[in-house]
Amino acid sequence: MKDIAEFIAGFERFQTKYFRDERGLFSRLRQGQEPRALVISCSDSRVDPAMLTGADPGDLFVVRNVANLVPPYRHEAEAPGIRAAIEFAVKTLEVGHIIVLGHSGCGGIQALMEGEGVTQHRYEFVGAWISIAMRARERVLRELPQKSPALQCRACEQAAILVSLENLLSFPWIGEAVDQGRLALHGWHFDIDSGELLAYSAETSTFDSLLSAPNLGQAEKS
Ligand SMILES: [Zn+2]
Repeated sequence: MKDIAEFIAGFERFQTKYFRDERGLFSRLRQGQEPRALVISCSDSRVDPAMLTGADPGDLFVVRNVANLVPPYRHEAEAPGIRAAIEFAVKTLEVGHIIVLGHSGCGGIQALMEGEGVTQHRYEFVGAWISIAMRARERVLRELPQKSPALQCRACEQAAILVSLENLLSFPWIGEAVDQGRLALHGWHFDIDSGELLAYSAETSTFDSLLSAPNLGQAEKS
């Protein structure tokens, strides 16, 4: 496990190597940012959007929260942080894509599936936050009542991504931008076990691998 001294040493390496070698990039970034996508991902330490997509500084505007959830559009101040970030990304940065990036083994979704009895006992805030995806939990329990808790959690991780995509469309200026073709929404699910990145297809209503024929075993050998 890294401690603070190692993080500082890591920053020193960044400053002396990356920052110096990428003078052109940072010179451009000093003028301002023009990220191409807003990524809403989980706070989970194992799922880093920039690392997974090979993005450079300036490429991604990122919001991270427990279970990568988007609440529905509302005027009142409840959970204003995520709504403000979405608003800034869409209205000011005019991103062309919003990616909701979920992942396997999500602790937030596991807590959602365990139910209120467990979350109320263990947390002050987690239960209220993850209840945004209650619809996903209900759908999984309705459609997959006999499946194992692990399979139900995986299904709920993906169903919760769809809830967040639906909630994004409830923001009037997002729905408008999507209708006008200025903005595209994507639902992605990273599988930590297989290393695959799956994307939701509205045509087939399934999550499919983004890479046509990944062969991770062979890639490791070469
Ligand atoms: Zn998570």
